[in-house]
Amino acid sequence: RRDDRNDSVVVIGLGRFGRALALELAEEDTEVLGIDHSAEVVQSLSGSLTHVVSADSTKEEVLRQLGVHEFDRAVVAIGSNLEASILTASLLVSFGIPNVWAKATSEAQGRILTQLGVHHVVYPEHDMGQRVAHLVRGRMLDYIEFEDDFAMVKTSPPADIVGLTLGNSGVRTRHGVTVVAVKRPGEGFTYATADTVVEEGDTIIVAGRTRQTERFSELR
Ligand code: ADP
Repeated sequence: RRDDRNDSVVVIGLGRFGRALALELAEEDTEVLGIDHSAEVVQSLSGSLTHVVSADSTKEEVLRQLGVHEFDRAVVAIGSNLEASILTASLLVSFGIPNVWAKATSEAQGRILTQLGVHHVVYPEHDMGQRVAHLVRGRMLDYIEFEDDFAMVKTSPPADIVGLTLGNSGVRTRHGVTVVAVKRPGEGFTYATADTVVEEGDTIIVAGRTRQTERFSELR
């Protein structure tokens, strides 16, 4: 493997998901090779990514010519074309690329990609649906769940902790969550301490077990 390719990422399929991913990587100074079948798509991204080429990623010779087999990280961002997604992922795995990511639009596609040996399968539509459900339900302004039943939530404080120091509010014992940071209107977030007094109109970030952060953000 060539050293200069170790930090780079190859992104195959530059639809809505692949494009956003590739641009975000490029924004943070990661070298990106973008590949898409469509010349039009490639044209629209030239200048924004380090390299972007129009090619059919289901062809082994094509991928080898582009040096794809030398990358350490590859993302298959082809969703709706199941055949292209599977053929491409299978080639990347057979190249021995150590970190292959792939997007799945259905559970079946995800299962096949996993069986092929893809290391990380992501379900953007499914995950975003769940995330938005959390936001729609309560006072949550933002929500992130980690694998192990642990979540962080940005929310407004329920009435029963307003006006008290966090130490005296009993938020941990009564609600099972920890207030991590507090933001006054118009100011930035600061870390919360036991002496922090949460006011009405503040925004807070709490951490805890998923279910408890959900319950907490549904309190009035
Ligand atoms: P999204 O939902 O993120 O927009 P799509 O599955 O609709 O994702 O888009 C996938 C992209 O992958 C399209 O731009 C399409 O041109 C590209 N693509 C599909 N098949 C191939 C292939 N065999 N080789 C290279 N690119 C492909």
